[in-house]
Amino acid sequence: MAETLALVVAAGRGRRFGGARPKQYARLAGQPLLRHTLRALRQHPAVSGILTVIHPDDRQYYDAATAGLDLLPPVDGGATRQASVRNGLESLAERRPERVLIHDGARPFLSAAVVDRTLAALDREPAAIAALPVTDTLKRGSGEPTVIAETLPRERLWAAQTPQAFRFGAILEAHRAAAGLDLTDDAAVAERAGLPVALVMGDPANVKVTTEDDLARTERALAAGGGDVRVGNGFDVHRFAPGDHVMLCGIAVPHTAGLSGHSDADVGLHALTDALLGALGAGDIGMHFPPNDTRWRGADSAHFLSHARDLIEKRGGRILHVDVTLVCERPKIGPHRAAMVERIAGILGLAAERVSVKGTTSEGLGFTGRGEGIAAQATATVRLPDAPW
Ligand code: MG
Repeated sequence: MAETLALVVAAGRGRRFGGARPKQYARLAGQPLLRHTLRALRQHPAVSGILTVIHPDDRQYYDAATAGLDLLPPVDGGATRQASVRNGLESLAERRPERVLIHDGARPFLSAAVVDRTLAALDREPAAIAALPVTDTLKRGSGEPTVIAETLPRERLWAAQTPQAFRFGAILEAHRAAAGLDLTDDAAVAERAGLPVALVMGDPANVKVTTEDDLARTERALAAGGGDVRVGNGFDVHRFAPGDHVMLCGIAVPHTAGLSGHSDADVGLHALTDALLGALGAGDIGMHFPPNDTRWRGADSAHFLSHARDLIEKRGGRILHVDVTLVCERPKIGPHRAAMVERIAGILGLAAERVSVKGTTSEGLGFTGRGEGIAAQATATVRLPDAPW
């Protein structure tokens, strides 16, 4: 099948946007804007790889925003949007995919239907873009303070969105021919090269987040979005064995004993993995990683947790919040809590305020009270796309 790659443009400085970090890394529903965009593309079955063009100063933001996502290595952008796209295209020149879908990093609400329509039009034309017919009456302003100089006819006018899809060879050549100009979208580059560009119906929801106001509005829209919100719980116990540390929530905590178990025996991450699987109705950790499978002997339990996260992402879902309680008399959890929160947040790609880790004792009672082992309990709240029924 013809290969389709996505090229996401995220190299802008977002001058119309306040705040310390560029807008594509601002948080929307707890996650960087760019991560929403990349996940929307990754979920489309026709897209087999995603390349992001970033600003060289943003590498740290990019790495944090894309933790755990399967992406091509990012490419540095240029001085203009056009130069950035060119860099991205040149980096794919050797791979030479059949089609490329160029999309703004700051358009997180891309639907599969828009991608479908845009790609379908590429069967007829070498280029096709998502766009919306203009419905507002258009005025040309003049002077200061501004007054109307003219009312423009809006018939046949469209407002361009992205994605903009192209046969790869054609758009690469068009970009090479347009080097040094500052055209604001890739359709303009294609037009300049004389390529016919199909207009397909975009989506009013496919907004570009440009200002703080846009971000606040989209945040409200998401909060009102409903979806299929689920809560899963998990529970796990591991017994103490000889050793000098225990793995708890991904952190090696020095102790007078270790924990026994077929992997690294991280009771906290096991309970949390089960909570995520529980929210999905996807069985338990033992079904996905059988204890008798020698591959998992001594394994880093972060692997199990990322697997559960991937299953949720594949369903188009999002983890909203996780909460882990570790039950033991010793070691003390408090001094390691912040590191545990950070580790889990890193594995799951969540903001730290969406991760909770707590420690408690059982007042000297029962097996945890007698210091025979550690128990962990976890809750995960997950939002899946609206159920079709
Ligand atoms: Mg376990």
